[in-house]
Amino acid sequence: MTVIVRGDGPAGASAAAAAARQGLDAVLLGHGRVAPPGTLEVLDARATSALLALGWYDAVVSRALPCHAVVVRWDGDDYLQRTSLLTPGGLGWIVDRAWFDPLVRARAEADGVRQVDAADAPVTILAAGKHSPGERRSLGPDLVTLTAALPTGAGRGLRGRLVVEAVEGGWWSAVADEATYAVSLTLPRASAPRGTSALRALWQQASRQGPAWLPHEAERLMPRARPVRSQLSRSTDGPRRVGDAALSVDPLSGHGLTLALEGGLRCLADGYQQWLVQQADQHAAAGEALYAQAGFDHSLWTPLT
Ligand SMILES: Cc1cc2nc3c(=O)[nH]c(=O)nc-3n(C[C@H](O)[C@H](O)[C@H](O)COP(=O)(O)OP(=O)(O)OC[C@H]3O[C@@H](n4cnc5c(N)ncnc54)[C@H](O)[C@@H]3O)c2cc1C
Repeated sequence: MTVIVRGDGPAGASAAAAAARQGLDAVLLGHGRVAPPGTLEVLDARATSALLALGWYDAVVSRALPCHAVVVRWDGDDYLQRTSLLTPGGLGWIVDRAWFDPLVRARAEADGVRQVDAADAPVTILAAGKHSPGERRSLGPDLVTLTAALPTGAGRGLRGRLVVEAVEGGWWSAVADEATYAVSLTLPRASAPRGTSALRALWQQASRQGPAWLPHEAERLMPRARPVRSQLSRSTDGPRRVGDAALSVDPLSGHGLTLALEGGLRCLADGYQQWLVQQADQHAAAGEALYAQAGFDHSLWTPLT
């Protein structure tokens, strides 16, 4: 049997590798796109079992920087150092998508997956990310993250830590590895203007009023906008959906990459759809509680349906 996977991100690579490991002929359709250097994300500790099952643990962990702590100022006056904001298992590693995606593709290829840059083919598994076609159920606020990368020197000792701070109408976060100090502002999509110069003006103003730890250099940068929506696909027929094509979760959960890897492993097995719904319900409830804790304005944060 041939398993054809569309989308060569973490979810697609995992699904194709899992199929190849079961002795199936696995084909990964993608464009080999690579994120800009400095696209830092936290791969949380819950990814451990998926990475071990895929045989990718050593390759990822030897390259990634351990993430020791999250420093949070969310619902009060004090900064708190915690093992996580939402993740019971604590934080895992800081990965740069610029090396992480090529690495997981290479690991899938080593497992016997054939990689093809092709557009039109009937697929078994859809892993083309959050822009995949299809109807979705919203699980939380519709957000946008403005993100900019600075050299690590600006990180002032934050290397290996994630900082999250709520401000009026959104939150700032920062994460640093050896090369990059990535700072982000997340806010409701409805409050983000369209157009490069309007976005830049918003970023400059927000940076000036931002948290004390935010480096002054941030203000001069041009941020990149990445939509972040928590959604569950309504499509249960057609190809199996995996990763963000099936379920995208709130960025505060730090769980998107883990769900992508674990979903890839599970997606051909029975009970996958129930697992997805269970994950979605847990995320929706956790997200709602978190926003309520920070006292976000409900007219902005009410989920769009
Ligand atoms: C600002 C931001 C911050 C985030 N931070 C974190 C974090 O700290 N920790 C975390 O765990 N998660 C985080 N996430 C979520 C995480 O990025 C996603 O959950 C994860 O990328 C999902 O992987 P995926 O493989 O499903 O999708 P993607 O990574 O989007 O991969 C989809 C792939 O499919 C390819 N593709 C698209 N269309 C086609 C097509 N038609 N044919 C072939 N290929 C196609 C794309 O080029 C891409 O390579 C964050 C997301 C955002 C937006």
